[in-house]
Amino acid sequence: MNDGREISEGRGHCLCGAVSFTVRNMNYSVDSCHCGMCRRWGGGPLMFVDCGTDVSFEGEENITVYDSSDWAERAFCKQCGSHLFYRLKHNNAHQMLVGQFNEQENFHFDLQVYVDYKPAFYDFANKTRELTEAEVIEEFVPGQNT
Ligand SMILES: [Zn+2]
Ligand SMILES: [Zn+2]
Repeated sequence: MNDGREISEGRGHCLCGAVSFTVRNMNYSVDSCHCGMCRRWGGGPLMFVDCGTDVSFEGEENITVYDSSDWAERAFCKQCGSHLFYRLKHNNAHQMLVGQFNEQENFHFDLQVYVDYKPAFYDFANKTRELTEAEVIEEFVPGQNT
């Protein structure tokens, strides 16, 4: 798969097409979050790809950014309501929603977070790494011990 092409780009768009995006240096590792905010936002566990800061948008005037917590923002298309990304404030890293990408075949599902918040009525059959809230905070939140 990694055949030496210099940079792999990923492209996608919302349901109505008013917003499209390009991710440079594409990452194909998919994470899922089972926390209550993600499930309330999306109606189910969120599935996303960490795309870092190098994401560009077309139709930016159609993006509404919702300030969902002290540490993150969530964006959606104001024309069709498609969710577009979850963005961390401290490093501007965009977690793009996997379903928005035009090409789906290279993705692999690797990580589930906030597994201690997952309701009992569903389970993914995929074997992935799993982290609880406490483990997520320890691994991903900077300055946790300062
Ligand atoms: Zn749209
Ligand atoms: Zn979440």
